Amino acid sequence: MLYLLNMGKLFDELSKDYRFKEGFKTCINCGTCTAICPAAEFYKYDPRKILDIVQRKDDDEILALLKSETIWYCGECMSCMTRCPRKNAAGLVIMALRNLSAKLGYFTCSEKGRQLYPLTKVLTGNILKLGYCVHPDTYKYEDHPESGPVFKWVLDNREEVYGRLGANYGRQGTGALRVIPKEDLDELQAIFDETGATERIDFVEKCSEQKAREMGMTMEEYGKYTFEHCSRGHFNDE
Ligand code: SF4
Ligand code: SF4
Repeated sequence: MLYLLNMGKLFDELSKDYRFKEGFKTCINCGTCTAICPAAEFYKYDPRKILDIVQRKDDDEILALLKSETIWYCGECMSCMTRCPRKNAAGLVIMALRNLSAKLGYFTCSEKGRQLYPLTKVLTGNILKLGYCVHPDTYKYEDHPESGPVFKWVLDNREEVYGRLGANYGRQGTGALRVIPKEDLDELQAIFDETGATERIDFVEKCSEQKAREMGMTMEEYGKYTFEHCSRGHFNDE
């Protein structure tokens, strides 16, 4: 299932990623990125260490990163980019690491990485079906009780509420929440096909099916479990 590379090639693969080229120059290990990073405040996460590992070009250590939880903690806010004295962007390096982890199938080795499956399924599914990555018609309050009773009321009265806010909810034409025409959805599908996104989605699904079998779950159980379950040990105060 995994597209395993010869050992000694992971750093080379990473170096080809345009996000890596843009986000990594040379790190002086000053720790400014970690000090500014909101994810580091909550998670057991240290972008300085990640940049240091990558800088050493040691494939065994990079492999451990690709299988780790840590590369999935970044919120991609890019605060680190604004403060680094060497003009690195730890967030972009993390994106390149995540991409390689997904490309090689290592994302299923970590709990946070396994969330790639429900997110890919839901968000790309919404984009290809509706033209929106998030849409009120696909949002189930039962799956997000944290959104609160006011938002439940908004969902229950969405036509009236979105209409009052000036949206064109569920209608043809222009404006927010309009119905995206079929020919535009076909174009989106063609873009996914041409750019390799469709192939990536299929690969994420295949790796996840394999992991679900290992965990003794159906795909429905696996999707729900990976979306909802959070083990202890991710956060600084645990
Ligand atoms: S702020 Fe820049 S130079 Fe300092 S540790 Fe982070 S990536 Fe390295
Ligand atoms: S982009 Fe990631 S590493 Fe950088 S500050 Fe934001 S959460 Fe931290």
